[in-house]
Amino acid sequence: MSKGLPKRSEDYSLWYNELVKKADLAENSAVRGCMVIKPYGYSIWEKMQAELDRMFKETGHTNAYFPLFIPKSYLSKEASHVEGFAKECAVVTHYRLKNAEDGSGVIVDPEAKLEEELIVRPTSETVIWSTYKNWIQSYRDLPLLVNQWANVVRWEMRTRLFLRTAEFLWQEGHTAHATEKEAKAETLQMMNVYAQFAEDFMALPVVKGRKTESERFAGADDTLCIEAMMQDGKALQAGTSHFLGQNFAKAFDVKFATKEGGLEHVWGTSWGVSTRLMGALIMAHSDDNGLVLPPKLAPIQVVIVPIYRKDEEFEAISEKANEIMAELRKAGISVKYDNRDTHKPGFKFAEYELKGVPLRIAIGPRDLENGTIEIARRDTLTKEQFELSSQPISEKFVQLLDEIQTSIYSKAFDFKGEMTTEVNSWEEFEEVLESKGGFISAHWDGTAETEEKVKELTKATIRCIPLDQKEEAGVCVFSGKPSTGRVLFAKAY
Ligand code: AMP
Repeated sequence: MSKGLPKRSEDYSLWYNELVKKADLAENSAVRGCMVIKPYGYSIWEKMQAELDRMFKETGHTNAYFPLFIPKSYLSKEASHVEGFAKECAVVTHYRLKNAEDGSGVIVDPEAKLEEELIVRPTSETVIWSTYKNWIQSYRDLPLLVNQWANVVRWEMRTRLFLRTAEFLWQEGHTAHATEKEAKAETLQMMNVYAQFAEDFMALPVVKGRKTESERFAGADDTLCIEAMMQDGKALQAGTSHFLGQNFAKAFDVKFATKEGGLEHVWGTSWGVSTRLMGALIMAHSDDNGLVLPPKLAPIQVVIVPIYRKDEEFEAISEKANEIMAELRKAGISVKYDNRDTHKPGFKFAEYELKGVPLRIAIGPRDLENGTIEIARRDTLTKEQFELSSQPISEKFVQLLDEIQTSIYSKAFDFKGEMTTEVNSWEEFEEVLESKGGFISAHWDGTAETEEKVKELTKATIRCIPLDQKEEAGVCVFSGKPSTGRVLFAKAY
């Protein structure tokens, strides 16, 4: 099954695309840039959604749903917002088709032109703030902490499955607050929620940081982000949390009566993660044999494969397998017994390896005699013979799954460390970027001009100004002008 997957070292990009398709995660559709998320891929996304949703609710948010279409005039109300999104908008102009008179098929009915064109949401700030105007009158209505799970459309030119698609699934949080301080605290809190999710569930270490002015969300005063390192040395922006100031409140005239009897504009935030996280998950941990999934997000955590020749053997093994399955399920482990007689064990082994199932149990007639099972770990590709009488099986598997989760994280953590290089000169910058890639920690003079020139020359962008940036006087690697701290540069997805 896994045969035919290109090696990461030979062509990382091809390896990624093939893996996404062969592991049954997603495929391209008839519309360029739009993907079909297949059931196995979608079940991983559902696990991500479930955990994130739980974390949002624990921090006081509730879900709502706003329309897919946004009147064009709404989008234009916040000047920098429309400027940022104008280049990638899908626009609905008509509401009806009709048969062509020459019989050549259906055409857009020119008489069914919409009075006002509609934008397919690229993000929902405008439609949401136009609604918040009616929801918020007084300080008693605040804070308003709402999240929506939805699809959005951004007409991207260069697309990659999961990483950058024209339509993607995401959640977008939109909150409104009485004070600047509260809104800023919310922005920081949600970035921390994303970081915690990435680290605890995706086993993905991230850098928490702040975007430079030129990389900021269109319409935000400040953008916080989490950045992750992929195995090919490229960075990936995995989540963003924006402090919107009073920009959208002013654009949509959202004011509230203060406790003191005044009337003020509301402060806002928005924050989102998307199906891009699937790309991050795949790229961060997988190997030349296929996916490696962290147990906490694996739809199937343990698979049992019977090895037999005769029907009686199959029956006896199935009995044992069912017993094991029941024990593991009681411990909250998701387990599948692959009793298909249409495929050989070797085929099944390769399939589950490709699909990244963390643990595989094989049971043969000799195992039954000896009271053992064979356990294979996907992350290390190691096998062990386990004596069923030596330890309760649920305890053993809970331990193993924990160990895998931790070990995948440590590996990615060490890798991120290895792939972060401090450089102090332009020669070094170019050399490291060329030979190794990764995050380059370097002094920057704080100007958009330098940022732009570096990008032009090397394709590396400032991924973020790390939140834990140390104050350190230095000189900009590019311009030689003074700098007060290091930022992280990298080529990115
Ligand atoms: P933004 O609204 O631009 O801050 O983006 C919110 C989240 O969506 C971020 O985590 C981005 O990484 C992600 N994202 C932005 N554009 C795309 C895209 N074309 N495909 C998938 N995810 C995206």
